[in-house]
Amino acid sequence: MSISDQFNKLGLSESLLNQVKEKGYTVPTPIQLQAIPPLLEGRDLLGIAQTGSGKTAAFSLPILELFSRNRQTVKANHVRSLILSPTRELATQIENNIKEYGSGLELSSKVVFGGVGKGPQVDAIELGLDILVATPGRLLDLIDRGHLNFSELEIFVLDEADMMLDMGFLGDVKKVISFLPTKKQTLLFSATMPPAIEELASDLLINPVKVKVNEESSIVDTIEQKIYSLEKSNKGYLLNALLEDASFSSVLLFCKTKFGADKIIEQLEKIPVTCAAIHSRKAQGERELALENFRQGKIRVLVATDIAARGIDIKNVSHVINYNLPEDPKSYIHRIGRTGRAGEKGIAISFYVESEAKMLKNIEVASKQKFTIDSNQPFHKDFSLAAPKTDKKSKGKQRKKNKSKSRR
Ligand code: AMP
Repeated sequence: MSISDQFNKLGLSESLLNQVKEKGYTVPTPIQLQAIPPLLEGRDLLGIAQTGSGKTAAFSLPILELFSRNRQTVKANHVRSLILSPTRELATQIENNIKEYGSGLELSSKVVFGGVGKGPQVDAIELGLDILVATPGRLLDLIDRGHLNFSELEIFVLDEADMMLDMGFLGDVKKVISFLPTKKQTLLFSATMPPAIEELASDLLINPVKVKVNEESSIVDTIEQKIYSLEKSNKGYLLNALLEDASFSSVLLFCKTKFGADKIIEQLEKIPVTCAAIHSRKAQGERELALENFRQGKIRVLVATDIAARGIDIKNVSHVINYNLPEDPKSYIHRIGRTGRAGEKGIAISFYVESEAKMLKNIEVASKQKFTIDSNQPFHKDFSLAAPKTDKKSKGKQRKKNKSKSRR
């Protein structure tokens, strides 16, 4: 497969283009097309883009290109670039991509995150690194212990800025920034721009190139969405019934709480269905193993909470199931976007109980669509979609009506 002229014209070296080709990319994604040339010129960048847009390559390829053009012996405990990412999984994904794209360039990289021993991380940093990918907590810990010196930092990437905010990491991020030199090239990526991130971006970026792709409200049309209304007590039965269908081959199931996730796993193991859960109470090793097994098709159902799963790039998810609707309507778009990737077909099923009427309405507004309830499932229960707001008077009238109905 050959790569398009658009890739050849971005200003990347032969070696990087070969790696891009090796990965099977033929045309640059819009964010790569718009971000790579100005980044190679040293410009700051504000990227409004989410995972799935190809943003990792959009910032990794220029860093690798610039550093391979201008090789430096990095001093002990110094780093030439820092990429901050909110979760261990995302940080690992980024560093894996950097290793792949940069294979043959002999640039050094390391990922550091909490929940694992510091020894190997400290050893790698001591040698000096071209690229350090880190989560904020562990990075601050390493800074506090005097393992890092940013005086020669050239490039800083803040990835998933709005997710940092959602996860309560913004304070830590600002602390990290306070250790960085003012003169550097800065890239900030965020799926949305809440005011706190807007403010951070304007403090941090100097005359940035702005690239906006793939609006938060967009849902690709390869995803078929189904809303199943039912009684809460029937959710487990409906899940079991759905899993009798072998076409549910690779199911990412979202639920609200860690406790809920563990209960679902218990239930699935009884059937038995191969499954695992990822949430913040699981050890790092367990989470990585669960993801890897799911990627390789060794387990059929991966149960996840929003935070643990956001941004995770898994191909060939046949179904996303929302065991609960998410509170935040944007999460609905994120969740179902884990299926139907790269032009493949995907099905997103949401279990809907009456108390979630408002949430469903909010999702409709955020995703600019109108749902119809799909009654084609064994536990269907009729609820009106948008429960009308009732004042006390009309509630009273309603109760009377119901009473007279039940007498009939
Ligand atoms: P990201 O948004 O960086 O997490 O990337 C999402 C997915 O898109 C990853 O699986 C990448 O390997 C893939 N990808 C990145 N760039 C391209 C491209 N130009 N063509 C096809 N796939 C790509």
